[in-house]
Amino acid sequence: MKATNFAPGPTPVPDRVVQKMSEPVLTHRSSEFSDLLRQVTADLKHVFQTKNDVLVLTASGSGAMEAAVVNLLSPGDRVLAVCGGKFGGRWIELCETFGLDALPFDVEWGRAADPDEIDRVLEEKGPFEAVLATHSETSTGVLHDIKVLGRVARSHGCYFIVDAISGLGANELRTDDWHVDIALTGSQKALMIPPGLAFISVSERAWQGIERSALPSYYLNLKRAKDSFEKGLTPYTPAVSLLMGLAESLGMMKEIGLEEIYRIHERNARVTRAGVAALGLELFARRPSNVLTSVLMPPGIDGSALLKTIKEDRGVTIANGMEHYRGKAIRIAHLGYDIAPSDMLVAISALEHGLSRHGYEFETGTGIAAAQRVILETS
Ligand SMILES: *Cc1c(COP(=O)(O)O)cnc(C)c1O
Repeated sequence: MKATNFAPGPTPVPDRVVQKMSEPVLTHRSSEFSDLLRQVTADLKHVFQTKNDVLVLTASGSGAMEAAVVNLLSPGDRVLAVCGGKFGGRWIELCETFGLDALPFDVEWGRAADPDEIDRVLEEKGPFEAVLATHSETSTGVLHDIKVLGRVARSHGCYFIVDAISGLGANELRTDDWHVDIALTGSQKALMIPPGLAFISVSERAWQGIERSALPSYYLNLKRAKDSFEKGLTPYTPAVSLLMGLAESLGMMKEIGLEEIYRIHERNARVTRAGVAALGLELFARRPSNVLTSVLMPPGIDGSALLKTIKEDRGVTIANGMEHYRGKAIRIAHLGYDIAPSDMLVAISALEHGLSRHGYEFETGTGIAAAQRVILETS
């Protein structure tokens, strides 16, 4: 049975990228490698929509989250972190690990942070050193309004740090225009290469802040990385094969164009939402990201059992809800520039299969038909 994956990362790796990664490994102290590093850095800046530094770390996305905290902040710093899902919560865990005074700005799961409310908290409970947020909250499928949050954070003189691990390269994120001091992502989401690399952009303002940070760092030290990158090097042996794949993937993204890539995600999201809604299911996210569609399970349907059936009978992987939404929500990803609308028909078909096997009443094909109509309307 052909296995198909609709989990929000690791995303399917395009064949061209797989081929590149199987070529002989470049020495990381060669001029070929320096050329490659300069090329990927330039291409990453475009994807990040920044003129500032973008550094590559050999780590998963969370490594870049840790790098942001330990390089820019100091023990005792007061920070405000938007928490409306598992990954917002990670900011709190990280900040507490390093002795920061982190205040969670709690948002009900499935909803987006209200920038006016954040403005009020920054005013009434401030001053804060930094605001930490999540672009696309992968645990709920919500897209936070980074543009407005950036304006609010800046108006209070705060650094603005954004976990864009699933969102960058799928939903618009204008790092410089939106006042994002540090944006970061990982390799295994919209960039469509295997896990193992993380990318982090640092604004001029953030570099000044980094000078004052009192937290120690070694492997994740960004100043050391910047010094090496300026010479076309990395401070330690990087995941060279992944960088070779990355160059190819970024090349493909350049061929398609960033605006078109956003449109691909938007279209796949619309197709999926239409299919789900036509089945009478409720969408979890009130402000949905184009990365994934989160769906609440109807009463009496156990999401975990449903996903097991879909996997066993159809070879299709759909992600479970996270933490207290495990079994209560499911998450269908449409993440990656290489995903076609017809791929989403496979997901909706598998969902119909699972729902039918678990006794949910609906007319067979309703979801697929609605999804198909959106494909036709947008062709
Ligand atoms: C996937 C993801 C992470 C975790 O990234 P790792 O690469 O597993 O460390 C963090 N935040 C968001 C929003 C994600 O989607």
